Amino acid sequence: MLKGKTALVTGSTSGIGLGIAKALAAQGAHIVLNGFGDIEGPQAEIVALGSEVSYHGADMSKPAEIEAMVKHASERFGSLDILVNNAGIQHVARIENFPVERWDAIIAINMSSVFHATRAALPAMRAKNWGRIINVASIHGLVASAEKSAYVTAKHGVVGLTKVTALENATTGVTCNAICPGWVLTPLVQKQVDAKAAALGISNDEAIRLLLGEKEPSMQFTTPEELGELAVFFCSPAGNNVRGVAWNMDGGWTAQ
Ligand code: NAD
Repeated sequence: MLKGKTALVTGSTSGIGLGIAKALAAQGAHIVLNGFGDIEGPQAEIVALGSEVSYHGADMSKPAEIEAMVKHASERFGSLDILVNNAGIQHVARIENFPVERWDAIIAINMSSVFHATRAALPAMRAKNWGRIINVASIHGLVASAEKSAYVTAKHGVVGLTKVTALENATTGVTCNAICPGWVLTPLVQKQVDAKAAALGISNDEAIRLLLGEKEPSMQFTTPEELGELAVFFCSPAGNNVRGVAWNMDGGWTAQ
């Protein structure tokens, strides 16, 4: 379905970003990966799906590097058709104890990067009259949790920016939507499981049951593969008039 298209997925060396990159690759898209840590493993996973892959190491807190990455994606494969804004970090602390440096980093990486990548990618998408911008927000773009001030602020911002992007391009073939996952067991969440297990002196499995039990009625994690299939739907012809939605995949978290 996506043969000949190019997708740039930010923060795709791990977790949800890698899951979405693989789902788009399985549909035939060329993939540009981004993020830190192991790069060769994720690249090999994309190649194994029969797609071409490239990598750009832009730091998503740096606007000039984001612009350079978008340019690289267009030049490497001839166009940039699908932009998945996914990179994100977390820090958990009460507001009065929240390190200012962590606040600034979360706002830059989780929210402002979406603006910078979108503004760089839009002109070429509009010129082709086809594009998909998919913002990986969070259930924390819709509701809050204590001790996550920067993350909740950034993700609410991403949901707002998604709507503005959708409206500004509503008469074109460029759509913009957000995905709002509940708990997904990635390195970002495993850190929170580890902190809970250490604080309460309980096992990993008990900490997971507590974490899910606080918020997620299904008592199940959403998987990167499931989120990847939602991204594929947004890119499909059936997604042509899906504009500005914030779509939960949250095991019933926000139904309560
Ligand atoms: P993860 O830690 O597995 O992956 C994060 C990715 O972002 C990695 O590839 C990392 O290298 C990259 N990254 C981090 N800082 C970066 C920077 N400055 N520049 C470039 N890349 C950077 O986390 P994840 O759980 O897969 O999270 C992906 C996205 O999904 C985030 O935006 C997160 O907020 C969101 N999300 C996660 C969950 C969850 O439960 N895991 C739930 C809702 C939303």
